[in-house]
Amino acid sequence: MKKDVHPKYYPNAKIICACGHTFTTGSTQPEIHVEICSNCHPFYTGKQKLMDDRGRVERFQRMVQKKSELAAKKKAKKSS
Ligand SMILES: [Zn+2]
Repeated sequence: MKKDVHPKYYPNAKIICACGHTFTTGSTQPEIHVEICSNCHPFYTGKQKLMDDRGRVERFQRMVQKKSELAAKKKAKKSS
């Protein structure tokens, strides 16, 4: 086995999340900053954290609604 080929291992590396949550884990870096963790990720919190807050989802849903309305109108024309 060669010596010194492995980076230093920190068994108690500190993970610091943007939400303020911190926890320790084993890592090759003594301190790691993350933007999201199991404490604040919507999957774990059950809360919807919408990254898109400019209503793109709503706009898409409106577009889909318009299209189905148009299709309904076309159908009505054909039957009359
Ligand atoms: Zn977090």
